[in-house]
Amino acid sequence: MKGPVIEINQPTSGLKWNGAIAYLDRDGVLNYGSPNYVNSPEELKILPGAAEAVSKLRKLGYKIVITTNQSAIMRGLWEDGTIQKIHKKLQDEIGEIDVLVTCPHRDRDKCGCRKPMPGMLNSASEIIRQKSHSSINWWGEKPQPIHPLDLMVGDRDSDMSAGWTVGARLFKVNEHVGIAEVIDRIVSGDPGDKFRPV
Ligand SMILES: [Zn+2]
Repeated sequence: MKGPVIEINQPTSGLKWNGAIAYLDRDGVLNYGSPNYVNSPEELKILPGAAEAVSKLRKLGYKIVITTNQSAIMRGLWEDGTIQKIHKKLQDEIGEIDVLVTCPHRDRDKCGCRKPMPGMLNSASEIIRQKSHSSINWWGEKPQPIHPLDLMVGDRDSDMSAGWTVGARLFKVNEHVGIAEVIDRIVSGDPGDKFRPV
């Protein structure tokens, strides 16, 4: 398996798109994470306030993208279709997501999609708006975003690094609190956290 697993919905909600993408990590942002992976729909538990936060993002006009590292796939721990079943449960609880991108790889697979690499964010941006960032300079200035409101929410520095490479506003959360911790900042137009990837 070379690239990420991509699930595309792009529902027509009747809400006007503001041109921006909200990139969200999954575990520790929308649902409780686990050191041993979330292995089934039954193990997926939504964090308090996550559904409401995603609803607020939609009402603000964002397209919603989930980017999640799930190396259980390349470790051979799951049967085919497991990630789609987990994501169905997720969307049953927080609503339909425009694009879900899953990196199945391990560190040693040296892919371009496992965060902190930006491959999943760029794939989703190409799908939604036919534009993406084509280069990375970890030591340079933070790149300009495709849309000034683009944002990334995650619980790890690898999320912040991936978001940094596409110029997104960065919001780091506590993994036990999730997106509810930062939704008011996002709504108020906060420029996001200061962050250097290296
Ligand atoms: Zn990957």
